[in-house]
Amino acid sequence: MPRPQKCRRVAYVPGVTFFKPAGTPMRSLEEIQLSLEEAEALRLKDLERMEQEPASERMNVSRPTFQRVLSSARRKVADALLNGRAVRIAGGNYEVASHRFRCRRGHEWDAPFELATDDTTALCPICNTPGTRSPIPPGPDESGKGQGRHHIG
Ligand SMILES: [Zn+2]
Repeated sequence: MPRPQKCRRVAYVPGVTFFKPAGTPMRSLEEIQLSLEEAEALRLKDLERMEQEPASERMNVSRPTFQRVLSSARRKVADALLNGRAVRIAGGNYEVASHRFRCRRGHEWDAPFELATDDTTALCPICNTPGTRSPIPPGPDESGKGQGRHHIG
């Protein structure tokens, strides 16, 4: 069992969670697991170009922790891109700060955590039909499987 750790807050769960190099059969690929909080650190810092201070606050972690998560994420992504490895985004120690909903017409949107705690349905902001919560990737409970298999460096 992993030691108890403060949950990192993740505001966005990627819709696509698996990437592999084109044309390479799966059996000859090494798979890297990128945790949800690593994906979130990349998103906040490199995609939204936030400074470290507000980004670490958004994730509810200290700056050194954020820095560590971020550099681990960058190293994994670089390793995958340059060495042709598959990447799976899953697991980690996190809580989702919002819920992703999807309506019958296929629109997707995020509802803030506070507004969506117990509800499993919400109205689509685009077409006003009821939507349901999208499944999210496996959380901390199921994340133990692949851990420790893909050390880098
Ligand atoms: Zn809709």
